Amino acid sequence: MVAEVIINRGAKKLNRTFDYNIPKELEELILVGSKVLVPFGNGGKLTEAFVVGIKETSTFEVKDIAKLEENLSNKQIALAKWMAKRYFCNVSDCIKLMLTPGTRNKNKEKRIQDKTINCVYLKKDREEIEFEIEIGKLKSEKQKRVLSFIKDNEGATVPEIEMFTDCARGIVNTLVKNGYLEIVEKKVERNPLLGRDCEKTDKLKLTEEQEIAYKSVEETIDKEEYKQFLLYGVTGSGKTEVYLQLIEKVLTIGKNAIVLVPEISLTPQMLDRFISRFGKEEIAILHSKLSIGERHDEWERIREKKARIVIGARSAIFAPIENIGIIIIDEEHDSSYKSETNPRYHAKEIAKVLAKENQAPLVLGSATPDMTTFYNATNEDEFGNTKIKLLTLTKRANQSLLPKVEIIDLKQELANGNRSMLSMELYNSIEENLKQKRQTILFLNRRGYSTFIMCRNCGYTVKCPNCNISMTYHSYERKLKCHYCGHEENVVTICPECHSDKIRYFGTGTQKLEQEIHKQFPEASTIRMDIDTVTKKNSHEHILNTFKNENIDILIGTQMVVKGHHFPNVTLVGVIAADSSLNIDDYRANERTFQILTQVAGRAGRENLPGKVVIQTYNPDNFSIICAQKQNYDLFYETEIALREQLKYPPFCDIILIGLNSYQEAEIKNVSSKIYQYLEKRLNKEEFKVLRPMPCPIDKIQNRYRWRIIIKGKMTEEANEILNVCLKEIYQENIKDTRIAIDINPNNMS
Ligand code: ADP
Ligand code: ZN
Ligand code: ZN
Repeated sequence: MVAEVIINRGAKKLNRTFDYNIPKELEELILVGSKVLVPFGNGGKLTEAFVVGIKETSTFEVKDIAKLEENLSNKQIALAKWMAKRYFCNVSDCIKLMLTPGTRNKNKEKRIQDKTINCVYLKKDREEIEFEIEIGKLKSEKQKRVLSFIKDNEGATVPEIEMFTDCARGIVNTLVKNGYLEIVEKKVERNPLLGRDCEKTDKLKLTEEQEIAYKSVEETIDKEEYKQFLLYGVTGSGKTEVYLQLIEKVLTIGKNAIVLVPEISLTPQMLDRFISRFGKEEIAILHSKLSIGERHDEWERIREKKARIVIGARSAIFAPIENIGIIIIDEEHDSSYKSETNPRYHAKEIAKVLAKENQAPLVLGSATPDMTTFYNATNEDEFGNTKIKLLTLTKRANQSLLPKVEIIDLKQELANGNRSMLSMELYNSIEENLKQKRQTILFLNRRGYSTFIMCRNCGYTVKCPNCNISMTYHSYERKLKCHYCGHEENVVTICPECHSDKIRYFGTGTQKLEQEIHKQFPEASTIRMDIDTVTKKNSHEHILNTFKNENIDILIGTQMVVKGHHFPNVTLVGVIAADSSLNIDDYRANERTFQILTQVAGRAGRENLPGKVVIQTYNPDNFSIICAQKQNYDLFYETEIALREQLKYPPFCDIILIGLNSYQEAEIKNVSSKIYQYLEKRLNKEEFKVLRPMPCPIDKIQNRYRWRIIIKGKMTEEANEILNVCLKEIYQENIKDTRIAIDINPNNMS
């Protein structure tokens, strides 16, 4: 076998691929993405290179690759191979997750210290770019290299791109000009998460409940066993303190720890807890706001065994840490642990594999556990054992009070003649809160001024010509926008169908709510956080800090507001319409609603101030809303699990989604029906129900048709094999343009 490599050096004439023979003993180990050393130039000096392709033979006489440099272990390779099967993707896609991010070209090392920097982002859709490369529309090797680098490192700076791809700035400019990339100017803020100094804190004396939980996991650590635990307790019940002491235990016996948290919860406050206990030397932090150079450094510190605790978001599970003594996944129900792009892995499944391999405990923590997790923690087999050991914390460790939660029936408000977005109760509460100089959060699960526009005469709605979904009116720019592809149109006032002037705007959004608040409370200061105000320049973190530090009266936001931060002065939370998450096209609608509302409610009244939550809804009888009001997970679980069992949804079966998309309608139909017939014939009819191919609810995005096949059944190794073979056979046929992705229990069904 022959590898095509790119030499990692600056000289322009080296900017092409070179062939190298793969020695027999490395054949199994070298893959696309490997970092290798090859003899190069006069005298055959060993030089660093990346494998970008593998082929059978070369037309040149080639030298051998001297060394595989990035020491991905056999275990990692095995994991990558396992993942490729399990998640229906290429092995190289998985290996990429495990390689050191970027590679530093030592000669060029320089820290970027300007006051503003230019960060580069993809402008075109990822898949679109891949497709253009596939069909040869994009030929320039340099352009391809820059694009593939940005695909993995969005937000990289121009100097970083120059350094890591050995391409000049001109290439970036060309790609910007041709609409592939965009450059966003950003102020450099010192990375808030690195280089913090905190006072050392000692461990707290555990409460009785914490002690029981701690001892139970400690026993597993001592026995060097694999076991799963669910640490179930409301926010503030002292889960983090238990994690901290377990990690301390693991460190004292010479082992290491991984802690996963949702990206959005990786706040300075959260990290301070760990840093002040263990010191920053021991800790490596991995998350998307680090620059590529910083990520590289953290990765190296782990590899060199300097950092012994890895804290990070989903992909930190692939950090090169050995001798793992414990893996902790906080907020284990969070949907960000499942990747929605290739490879579509679930960090929890990877964590399980690693914990088993290391004979270590896997501790999942949550106030609102995932349905499947709680099922596995409470459902006993015939010997009275559960798959997951349940550890419960029932009390708030710091004795702060749970907020008072009120549900307001919007139908009743309307009947009383109140047409405003605010019920009387919420209006009065805001007024009172303003008087007390306390802060309020208003939560709305939508964005834009209104969701759609419709002709009241004939029912015409403006839809995106590319995606076939309703376009949203943005009052600030007075434009209609498609939220899927960004297509914009001018506002219409006369119906293009029936020519009447009865065009009206329907629905409500954060902008409209903000305007309404200004009208009703002219003195109140407000700040808005939604997809439109959180931009690449203006981060989520920045808005929340402004809200907190400038003591702004009211924060208006979408669900982005619910996680992570801690606002001591917020005593009122209003949910404008709890119904929006109930109406999503997803079997988890109830679960998501319960989780969101419980979390939102948790924002109000922490520390010494009592809090109040007002939930407005058209469905005051819905059990997920009522259970959230009572902060009663157990009751929610009992009701929901019965529904899941009845309707055969996870944990009682898996939802396998085969998604297809293509420019060619005839082809996508043809391929879908071939897959359907193949699987229908081979999957066991008693265990699997294969539904007929159908257009997706959003049946076109950016001019690509979208179809899907849904299969309900419990995923097995055998079924996995059948699906893999099916994909292979389908791809061997003459498919021009159709892409296929298989996802198990995807987050998003649209
Ligand atoms: P969770 O992770 O469940 O939200 P934390 O571990 O953050 O809970 O604890 C909430 C608060 O209670 C923190 O301020 C923490 O310092 C405090 N706390 C936790 N455990 C104890 C304890 N055993 N004794 C006293 N205070 C505690
Ligand atoms: Zn009309
Ligand atoms: Zn669109």
